[in-house]
Amino acid sequence: MEQRVLDTPAIRTAPPFPLPELYSRVERHVPRFEWPIMADDIAAILKLKRERNAVILAHNYQTPDIFHTVGDIVGDSLALAREAARTDADVIVLAGVHFMAETAKLLNPGKTVLIPDLEAGCSLAASITAADIRLMRARHPGVPIVTYVNTSAAVKAESDICCTSGNAKKIIEGLGVPKVIMLPDEYLARNIAAQTKVEIIAWTGHCEVHERFTPEDIRTLRETHPGITILAHPECPPEVVAECDFAGSTAAMADYVGQKRPARVVLLTECSMSDNVALQYPDLDFIRPCNLCPHMKRITLKNIRHALETMTHEVTIAPEIADRARQAVERMLAIG
Ligand code: SF4
Repeated sequence: MEQRVLDTPAIRTAPPFPLPELYSRVERHVPRFEWPIMADDIAAILKLKRERNAVILAHNYQTPDIFHTVGDIVGDSLALAREAARTDADVIVLAGVHFMAETAKLLNPGKTVLIPDLEAGCSLAASITAADIRLMRARHPGVPIVTYVNTSAAVKAESDICCTSGNAKKIIEGLGVPKVIMLPDEYLARNIAAQTKVEIIAWTGHCEVHERFTPEDIRTLRETHPGITILAHPECPPEVVAECDFAGSTAAMADYVGQKRPARVVLLTECSMSDNVALQYPDLDFIRPCNLCPHMKRITLKNIRHALETMTHEVTIAPEIADRARQAVERMLAIG
């Protein structure tokens, strides 16, 4: 019988599978045949990080190839802001959207902060301007203005204090006043208003990812997946939050999954958040009717590599804005 010879020259000269340890972190998400191309960018990024003394801050909504391989500090807006204030790197690359890069720059005025794509914006940040804030202050004299971190530095500069979805209630109640203006996310403001006695004056901004979820989505999920646990981000409409099992910030949702270990779960939030959490808990069944954030998805391994190679695009903030905006962020970090 003819014996097949497996040790052909082609096999002997095949390059070794690249970065196997990093691949093991994402193998349930990235097909094996796609990995060598990604690994080429990842290896270049790791080398550039060492050469530049750079760190990459990666938001939970980044794709797993970024979040689980090149991100040095990963988390939600609050975690990234906190950690940005602690890093001793010379260069910060923000794998996220522009307002996050601005926040990192506010907290690290002496460091170089890069964003791989200047067009990585946010529908909430785009919903309000500094002039709008001045108008609200004139209309409601003496009422403190609490601004969600999902805003430009110019808007933060007109505010009294910032908040995130994770600390909004604590910040608002910590002010010790009966009434606050909370901008710009209408749904977050209404969801927090339902939990506190403080009167909240809201704006009409929405997150284009979370506003698309509906109560009908929840009912359909419960019908098609009996026993499912449904988590929602508080940027979702209040009618959605009212029907879910738990509503919380990005970090709070991840903690809930880790602690409660629901056998079957859905996260009503951005798609990559589910993907990243699912990779951490392979024993849980994640149903994923998610919505993509087109702004977050502008960041790729390729443009992170390009950012570090060319040191672009550098985020700068005019000093007269930066000083006041920094105070609003630092007041938030001092409270929570
Ligand atoms: S998910 Fe929503 S809040 Fe976050 S960056 Fe995208 S548009 Fe903005």
